[in-house]
Amino acid sequence: MRQILWFRRDLRIHDSGILAEAKDEVLPIFIFDSNILNALSADDKRVTFLFEAVRELRSQLRLLGLDLAIFYGDPIEIFSRFKEEGFDEVVASVDFDAYAKERDAKVENLLTFKRVYDCFLLHPEDVLKVDNTPYKVFTPFYKTAIVGFEDTVMLKSPAQNLKLIPWETEDITLEKMGFTAQKLPELLRQSVREKLVLFKSKVFSYDNERDYFYKEAGSDLGMYFRFGLISVKELFSIMIAWRKEGLEVETFIRQLFWREFYNYILYHFPESEIENFDGSDIPWSNDSVLFEKWCEGKTGVPIIDAAMIHLKNTGKMHNRLRMITASFLTKNLLIDWRWGEKHFAKYLLDYEASSNIGSWQWAAGTGADAAPYFRIFNPYLQSKKFDSEGLFIKSILPKIREVDAKLFHMENGLSQSIVDIKASRKLAIAVFKRAKDAA
Ligand SMILES: Cc1cc2nc3c(=O)[nH]c(=O)nc-3n(C[C@H](O)[C@H](O)[C@H](O)COP(=O)(O)OP(=O)(O)OC[C@H]3O[C@@H](n4cnc5c(N)ncnc54)[C@H](O)[C@@H]3O)c2cc1C
Repeated sequence: MRQILWFRRDLRIHDSGILAEAKDEVLPIFIFDSNILNALSADDKRVTFLFEAVRELRSQLRLLGLDLAIFYGDPIEIFSRFKEEGFDEVVASVDFDAYAKERDAKVENLLTFKRVYDCFLLHPEDVLKVDNTPYKVFTPFYKTAIVGFEDTVMLKSPAQNLKLIPWETEDITLEKMGFTAQKLPELLRQSVREKLVLFKSKVFSYDNERDYFYKEAGSDLGMYFRFGLISVKELFSIMIAWRKEGLEVETFIRQLFWREFYNYILYHFPESEIENFDGSDIPWSNDSVLFEKWCEGKTGVPIIDAAMIHLKNTGKMHNRLRMITASFLTKNLLIDWRWGEKHFAKYLLDYEASSNIGSWQWAAGTGADAAPYFRIFNPYLQSKKFDSEGLFIKSILPKIREVDAKLFHMENGLSQSIVDIKASRKLAIAVFKRAKDAA
C-alpha cells in the first residue's frame, strides 16, 4: 500500500485521524491551494499563520521519522501526478463546505479517497431525530448529542512501522506564493498549550464574563481549530479533566457544540451556504454606500465603528460584537447577510465557513434556530450594557479617549449615525414580517 496522507486543516500529530489510518508506505503532504490563496490579499495574516503551522507540522512529523512534502498549486494537477506515480490511495480529514466537497470529489476520480472525520466532534449523520431527519434547533440537537458523548471520545495514536516515501519538492516560501510575511499578533504567537494554560486560569469566569467585550474572557482558540492545531476531541477531553478538578466548563462545552451545530446544518442543508435557510425572500435594500460605511467603520455609531475598525486592523472581533454588527447590517441597514458574511470571511482570523454562514443567518433571522426577526440589537444599549465605561471603544478610537463614555451610548451623542435606529428598526420588522408570512 502506497498512501498519500493529505493534511489540510488538521495540522497536528496528536489525535490525528489520518496518522491513525496510515499504513505501510506513506507520503505526508500539504498543498498550498492556489485556488484558495489567489483570492486572498498579499498581506493576509492567516497565510503567515498557516505557513508557520505547516512548518511546525513538518518538524513534528520528522520527530516521528516521517516528513512533510509541501506543494503550491492546484490540487487536481498535483494529484494527477501522484496517480502517474502509482499511489494507491489518499487519506484526508474532511469538512463540508462547497469548495472542499467539489475538490475532494475530483481527487476521488483520480485515486481511492479514504475520508476521516476529525475536524469536528461529531459526524453529522450520527445525531438525528427519531424520525431520522436532522435537527434544526440547537437545544434538542445538543441534548441528544451530549448524552453519553464523553464516553465515546477516544483519542487516536499514529500507526506504527510506517515507511516514508522520499519525495523531492521545491522550497516553497510565502514570497514565491505572492504573500509577504506578516508580524502576527501576540495571540497567534502562543502555542496551543500556552493558550490552554491561560484559559484554565480564567475558565471559572467564562460563563459570567464572556459577553463583556473589553474583557478577554474567551479561549481565543478559534484560529487553532480552523487549522486543527489541536483536535477538538482532545480539547473536549481536557474539559472533562478540568471538570473533574472542579472547574466549571459546561458553558464552554456548549459553545463547542455551536460549532458542531453549524457544521451539521451545512452538511444536511448545503444550500444554506448561499440561500436563506428558512426559505424567506427578504427584499434587501442593499445600499452599497451604506455597506461601505459599515465595512470601514464610518457609521457614526461608536460601538459599530470601533468593532469594524478593529476587525480590519487585527482580524479579531468578539462574539457579541459580531452579533451587534451583523444585526446592524442586516436589520438597521437592511443589507443582505451574504455581503456581511463575505466581509467577515475576508478579515476574520478564525474564519470558518460553517460557523460564519450559520451565525450570519442567525443574526439576520433567516437561519436555523435564528434570532427572531423582531429581535434587533440596539447598538447603544448593547455598548452601555457590555462596555459602560467605553473601554473597548476608547482602546480602538484613541482620539476620543477623553470623551465621557455616556456619549457613546446615546444615539448621535458623539457623532451622527447613518441611520435612525428607531425608524430603521420599525421598517425592518415590517419588511421581515411580510417576507416571513409569504415564505
Ligand atoms: C456574525 C458572526 C460570525 C461568526 N463567524 C465565525 C467564524 O467565521 N468562525 C468561528 O469560529 N466562529 C464564528 N462565530 C462564532 C464566535 O463569534 C467565535 O467562535 C468566537 O468569537 C471565537 O472566539 P473564542 O475562540 O475566544 O471563543 P470561545 O468563546 O472561547 O469558544 C470556544 C470555541 O467554541 C466555538 N464557538 C463559540 N461560540 C460559537 C458560536 N456562537 N458559533 C459557533 N462556534 C462557536 C468556536 O470554535 C470557539 O473557538 C461567528 C459569530 C457571529 C455572530
